[in-house]
Amino acid sequence: MISTAPATGRTASVTDPATGEVIGQVPLGTAEDADRAVRSAEAAFGDWRARPMAERAALQHAAASALRSRSDEFARTLTREVGRPLAGSRSEVERTAALLDYFAEEGLRLRGEIPKLDLPDERVLVVKEPVGVVVAIVPFNYPLTLLTFKLGAALITGCTVVAKPALETPLTTLMLAELFREVGYPPGAFIVVTGRGSEIGQALVEHPIPRKVAFTGGTAAGKRIAAAATGTNKRVTLELGGQCPAIVCDDADLDVAVPALLRQTFENAGQFCYRVNRMYVQRGIFGAFAERFAAAARGLVVGNGLEPGTQMGPLRRADVLRKTEEHVSDAVAKGARLLAGGERMTGPGYERGYFWPPTVLAQTDHSMRIMTEETFGPAVGLMPIGTLDEAIAHANDTPYGLAAFVFSRDLATALRAAERCEAGSVWVNDIHRSYDQVPFGGYKQSGLGREKSRHGLDEYLELKTIYLSLPKGMGA
Ligand code: NAP
Repeated sequence: MISTAPATGRTASVTDPATGEVIGQVPLGTAEDADRAVRSAEAAFGDWRARPMAERAALQHAAASALRSRSDEFARTLTREVGRPLAGSRSEVERTAALLDYFAEEGLRLRGEIPKLDLPDERVLVVKEPVGVVVAIVPFNYPLTLLTFKLGAALITGCTVVAKPALETPLTTLMLAELFREVGYPPGAFIVVTGRGSEIGQALVEHPIPRKVAFTGGTAAGKRIAAAATGTNKRVTLELGGQCPAIVCDDADLDVAVPALLRQTFENAGQFCYRVNRMYVQRGIFGAFAERFAAAARGLVVGNGLEPGTQMGPLRRADVLRKTEEHVSDAVAKGARLLAGGERMTGPGYERGYFWPPTVLAQTDHSMRIMTEETFGPAVGLMPIGTLDEAIAHANDTPYGLAAFVFSRDLATALRAAERCEAGSVWVNDIHRSYDQVPFGGYKQSGLGREKSRHGLDEYLELKTIYLSLPKGMGA
């Protein structure tokens, strides 16, 4: 059990979603706590930004290697607070360390500009400066990596960070802050506060000192946060909800498409933003695809993430389970055919957690919520489709635009389809995790700005132009 001293006396319990057991207590922070944290981050900023880049990079690499050396401890706590199987938690810890390393290296590659204006007595310098104090707010599904997209970029550029994890999953974030302190980060460089988004989160966003809010979470909260941040004209990056389509053409290689789409639908019990929520499958292949996909879904082992052999854990929250249930029953009531799952899991091992089985619905259409709203749980809709043009029109018929997936052996067809999808990332003919070296983010209401890659670093930098006049008449 991990506990932190309450700042105001009020605390919240953190529970294990597989068993309901209380695994920690954290303070329910207030606006006063937000103010204190922001002022400490501001006090640290001057010294931190003045440190040489090489020193900040060395510290960031040290944090990455300390994290790797404590991988097991972090992974077990992640599994207990998120519910995900241990292998997935280990992979999140490794990805977090890799992100810290990547951003440290990318920091060393930062450059300014001296444009060749050919003015005899003047030089113009374009320099990059850290924006200042950054507020980072993240959801429950990947507490460490979603934070590190922000933290790794912000710290290396010289910003200081106040982070607010989701109230259900604050434990590994608090452990990370402690680890950063141990490897030598100065006080105030990275501060974690805990509490409700509507309370301490809102206070951080409205506070006049931070210059930037980096937010990952739902589209509704993102819009509220962006509106509040404009009150003090803060820079904002938003990584928001998704309702991602996959297009499976008649000539798709099912040996690749089925396992890839299975992972992208049910990993983390469907609780991730660029998961597949709906599939458009051409009629020629629909029956074969649906049968193989549903059989594979039925074969997934659901249970407590700490048990060996578990492939899918419980949902993290009761409201996520409720929404999944609503989307499934809405689709069935409107004529969808249930091919796998469809009812809350009960019986030994499932009595106390939010367990929902991998659920596959066929013959879906856009009158059903599962095809138009973000489910964020382990259920997916399969819609038979005629032409590729129809599939693309349906794929783009959404306010979201985070990711899309295309399967066709004809690479010209697949590439043209990828180009027509309104999404920040498109995978063609296989699906793997998104790389650190390339940008990630959403079109339309799925977001604003990009994370990861050098573009993600630029989100924490201001451009300054310095016009430098030299003494006149000193010659060329
Ligand atoms: P959420 O309700 O939007 O919460 C996310 C975080 O924001 C939590 O820490 C929450 O605090 C805080 N928050 C909520 N309202 C706030 C406010 N007015 N001011 C400041 N902070 C506030 O998200 P969720 O439903 O838990 O998470 C799932 C969503 O995240 C899905 O829509 C998913 O697609 C999206 N997501 C997007 C990405 C991406 O990269 N695009 C990645 C992962 C997840 P509490 O602790 O009180 O909840």
